[in-house]
Amino acid sequence: MGREFSIIERYFKRLTQDRVEAGGLADDAAILSVPEGEELVVSSDTLNAGVHFPIDAAAGDIAHRALRVNLSDLAAMGAQPLAYQLNIAFPEPPEEVWLEEFTQSLLADQIAFDIFCSGGDTTRTQGPLSLSITVMGTVPKGKAIRRSGAQAGDVIMVTGCIGDAYLALSHSDEYFQARFYTPSPRLDLCRPMRRHAHAAIDISDGLIADIEHICEASGLQARINLSNIPLSDPARAVIGRGEVDVMDLLSGGDDYELVLAVPEAAVDYFSDAHTIGYFTQGHGVILSGEDGEDVKLKKSGWQHF
Ligand code: ADP
Ligand code: MG
Repeated sequence: MGREFSIIERYFKRLTQDRVEAGGLADDAAILSVPEGEELVVSSDTLNAGVHFPIDAAAGDIAHRALRVNLSDLAAMGAQPLAYQLNIAFPEPPEEVWLEEFTQSLLADQIAFDIFCSGGDTTRTQGPLSLSITVMGTVPKGKAIRRSGAQAGDVIMVTGCIGDAYLALSHSDEYFQARFYTPSPRLDLCRPMRRHAHAAIDISDGLIADIEHICEASGLQARINLSNIPLSDPARAVIGRGEVDVMDLLSGGDDYELVLAVPEAAVDYFSDAHTIGYFTQGHGVILSGEDGEDVKLKKSGWQHF
């Protein structure tokens, strides 16, 4: 048996958790069914070593981040996890300890977020390690949350804290590193979102850039109050020491928190989230400071090119 097949058999097969849909990875493809009255929500995210995480990152950290950033896309759509495909390209044959840590970490998150691996692809590359996950989830027909659904007057809410993952680039503190490698996909909000949110996006490019995406899709302007943006105590401490400008956190990205457009009457359904502003007629994002004056935005977010 070739090494590729023994890796699949010994390590990746366990990720199927013996689900019949995956057929023990003995077939060319998985067979999935979508419950009556539901539709499939599909999204892919690729992580390349050296671009999306440091080349020397631990196998477990890479695994957590790869699955969680994908689950965050499902959360943003209001979808419940179903299954995922794992596509991985190795620069050289992986060590057994690497595969062990990688798959155990994936399994732990599979159990935490109620999803299983339905298959994937294993290849060799001349470049650094590359990992691509395609995640699938379900929503009742017509109930997926879109970026385009925001309405003038909707409140802009954000979950969690902003900027911690960005600070992991410059600060090796365990707290910031954990926020980078193990973001918390907000799948817990799926039900209230489907009932009450008009639009949603997960923050991958940067808070401002991702709110801009809602603005464009919904044809609206966002007005945000800088003093309402939730920051963690460790992030405030770093800003307080003058090591980073708060504006950099707002365009830093990698938060994998959700931005929601919520009608004012439904704000109480999202008691864990923070109100940071509102949508109105117009376009673009307008940020105002403590003094009520508009703050100039240098850049809104991360771009690959
Ligand atoms: P093909 O010959 O079409 O490339 P493979 O031999 O690569 O198919 O795959 C055999 C089985 O193993 C398939 O069911 C596939 O989904 C599964 N598989 C391959 N790589 C992975 C992986 N990295 N993770 C999970 N399943 C995988
Ligand atoms: Mg293949």
